[in-house]
Amino acid sequence: MMGGQVPILVLKEGTERETGRDAQRKNIEVAKAIADAVRTTLGPKGMDKMLVDSLGDIVITNDGATILKEIDVAHPVGKMMVEVAKVQDTEVGDGTTSAVVLAGELLHKAEELLEQNVHPTIITNGYRLAAEKALELLPELGIKVDSDELLKDIAMTAMTGKNVAEAKEYLADIAVKAIKAIAEEKDGKTVVNVDNVKVEKKQGGGIKDTELIDGIILDKEKVHPRMPKLVKEAKIALINTGFEVKKTEISAKIEITDPTQIQAFLDEEQKEIKKMVDKIKEVGANVVFCQKAIDDIAQHYMAKYGIYAVRRVKKSDMSKLAKATGAKIITNLDDLTPEDLGYAEVVEERKIGDDNMTFVRGCKNPKAVSILIRGGTEHVVDEAERALHDALKVVGVALEDGYAVAGGGATDIELALKLREYAPSVGGREQLAIEAFADALEIIPRTLAENAGLDAIDIIMKLKAEHQAGKKHAGIDVFDGRIVDMVEKKVIEPMRVKKQAIESATEVATMILRIDDVIAAKKSEG
Ligand code: ADP
Repeated sequence: MMGGQVPILVLKEGTERETGRDAQRKNIEVAKAIADAVRTTLGPKGMDKMLVDSLGDIVITNDGATILKEIDVAHPVGKMMVEVAKVQDTEVGDGTTSAVVLAGELLHKAEELLEQNVHPTIITNGYRLAAEKALELLPELGIKVDSDELLKDIAMTAMTGKNVAEAKEYLADIAVKAIKAIAEEKDGKTVVNVDNVKVEKKQGGGIKDTELIDGIILDKEKVHPRMPKLVKEAKIALINTGFEVKKTEISAKIEITDPTQIQAFLDEEQKEIKKMVDKIKEVGANVVFCQKAIDDIAQHYMAKYGIYAVRRVKKSDMSKLAKATGAKIITNLDDLTPEDLGYAEVVEERKIGDDNMTFVRGCKNPKAVSILIRGGTEHVVDEAERALHDALKVVGVALEDGYAVAGGGATDIELALKLREYAPSVGGREQLAIEAFADALEIIPRTLAENAGLDAIDIIMKLKAEHQAGKKHAGIDVFDGRIVDMVEKKVIEPMRVKKQAIESATEVATMILRIDDVIAAKKSEG
């Protein structure tokens, strides 16, 4: 070494390190690549992707969250982008593609500023100010959601582009009814827990055979063939212990000196179990849902008493059954009283496709309901499930908040316009960042136009002109390329979807911008 300098090794051999602009450039490239991967799926005219996993299973979808979940992203920044889609999906159930595309564009615009030597800290500050301002402006663009009709429009907007076009209205109607049934009032607020809508799917029939059940469906049959197939005026007991004699933990040795003693021992067990079933009958239950096992003897007596019983019901289904029927889940049979029983007009076993399922219908004011999705092929059923997932979520969110905004790029263009008006008041270099943020918002209408095969530059110009003339709901009709009022076109989405997309896209973009050093340990072998 010259001058006797010895390099000091701080990092382990094999560690990869990138710093400064190199690190930034690479990270931004990765983020943009992820955004580009889902960009062509945005909007009603978006294309689908066919994903084949390592086992050869195929998924065909244009759902951003699903696509990103399926593709294996290795780069840490890529993983952060995938996280944006996940958060968007769990928080609001829709707008996943938009959030990722927006994050990608925010970084793309940041890149241009970095090239002009604007410091990352200035950019992140500007972006944060812009996001705050946008969220503050959003309520001014709000549309009050005060009718089932508007909720249905929201559900239909969320489902556009999914492969369920012909059944969209039908599914939207089901989604609205389901959510309205399970919505609860707490402290003067509407609270919706979408988990209380149980979605089951069975291949066969067509999408229009999909049905809403005012109760619960279980993918399970009754435990014994001699039990009734149908019980009317069902009085339902929910039991989370087994109908069996508990095995002792320690193995005990019983000394038997006379064969009759074995019989006596077995008789004793039988009596125990009969006593349990008798208790059920005594309180007046004619249906039993048991979380654990129901042994042969118990089944025999239940069948004899005309009781319909299902065993090994999932814990989550037990609580849904409780919510739907009003029954209380009982751990100790001795505690069971008639008041603990739930009610349903009908409990019956029906053959759906090749399987027997249990339907609990006609619950009074059920706070949990079910949807049984039908469809010709597995792909249709799966896509319908994803479409319904989105629809249920957006309807729930809109019902909780009571506000929606115009879709089709209308809200994005309006926010961009307002942010450009706001930027000079901040001044300095942050102003540039706020303007870049405004430009980035235009990616949504631009992509909608591009995906519809329209002239994006022309469309954006026309859109801007309309908004400058005060038409804040003007957006793109992707089907005929005209600029129309999106509210009149019934293309609306919950305000929270936009809010969340702006929040998470800004968060991930600023987080990525602040990284200027990537130190990656050597991959361990194998
Ligand atoms: P995301 O995963 O972001 O929800 P989508 O593929 O569902 O992606 O596309 C959503 C975008 O499509 C939103 O910006 C929404 O406003 C827009 N959109 C939905 N329906 C229409 C329509 N009929 N006309 C124009 N834009 C629409």
